[in-house]
Amino acid sequence: MRLLEYEAKQILQKSGVAIPAGTIVANDTDISVITPPVVLKSQVPTGGRGKAGGVQIVTNANDVAPTVKKLFSLPIKGFLPHTLLAENFVDIAQEHYLSLMIDRDNECITIMVHKNGGIEVEQHAADEFLRLPIANDTIDDVAQKIADYLGHSADQITPMIQKLFMAFTANDATLLEVNPLIYTKNNELICGDCKMELDDAAVFRHPDWHFSSAPHDTNFVILDQSGTVGTIANGAGLAMATVDAVAAAGMTPANFLDIGGGANVDTILAAFRRMDAFAHLNAIVINIFAGITRCDEVARAIIAAKDQIPSLPPLYIRLAGTNFDQAVALLSSAKITTLSSLEECIHAAKEAS
Ligand code: GDP
Ligand code: MN
Repeated sequence: MRLLEYEAKQILQKSGVAIPAGTIVANDTDISVITPPVVLKSQVPTGGRGKAGGVQIVTNANDVAPTVKKLFSLPIKGFLPHTLLAENFVDIAQEHYLSLMIDRDNECITIMVHKNGGIEVEQHAADEFLRLPIANDTIDDVAQKIADYLGHSADQITPMIQKLFMAFTANDATLLEVNPLIYTKNNELICGDCKMELDDAAVFRHPDWHFSSAPHDTNFVILDQSGTVGTIANGAGLAMATVDAVAAAGMTPANFLDIGGGANVDTILAAFRRMDAFAHLNAIVINIFAGITRCDEVARAIIAAKDQIPSLPPLYIRLAGTNFDQAVALLSSAKITTLSSLEECIHAAKEAS
């Protein structure tokens, strides 16, 4: 499950990691307590908020109320926030990128760093990032390498990396991304933004997990953040076969998803929104063999997704089973075509890539 920024930052704070002081703002919060200069941040489960207008720096007290109102009514990639985070403005000297993730290839946790963090980080090619698997090196060795690369002393970075590593493992995270990692003009090291994904399979040992992220996210497994093909299927077997077919065709599957028997428009739409986590996606393959799942419900979700998520890549859709005819009627009136087999979907996705 993916946490909202303020939820991830609560975990960081408990772990002793420096974050800007802030308060959570709901619709009914008394905003007279918010004193500029302040940064108002939309709490939606997606990145790119800065570019979409979801991060607003407010310097004048008169601008707080209208900015709060504006943010609550600004959808970002289809998400409307239920909360905002109001943080004390930080005087930024440098913005770096730092993340920890489960590295399946190396069977360890790997840290990725880039000197130039901030909202343009997706412009950097994958091989521009410093990648440090925590396998043979100790965390202190890795922290020293990061300090050397960034051109800072290790005094502040080493304890920061140690705490982030502890926060990652103690919370069964699969991803912890800090962007920007900030050096302030007073030379303090602080986490400006945090994106955190927790392993849904670890829910049983965390009775303390009460996050806002909806339980319908549970079957969504990220396979490769830089994957090019998203997958949506129903039934674990068909979902695995779909992932395998994508990989066998020489493309990189980004995720595994079994939408399950009870899938409805909202749960399927949530899956489309999660695809947004992948910066390099150029296709989504949808493979549904409907029994309890209904093809018309999937079709409605596809139409809603096309309507609400402008950044969606092309969809390659194969549907079969319950309410197939209704689904085709719905899709064709929305000018969305389907294909008759998984092979055709894979072939078409491959041709287009
Ligand atoms: P994202 O766009 O969803 O990743 O949201 P971020 O929380 O990373 O904010 C986007 C950008 O807003 C950051 O990279 C900063 O450049 C800027 N920003 C956010 N908070 C502050 C702040 O306190 N001070 C300054 N100067 N800039 C900020
Ligand atoms: Mn960010």
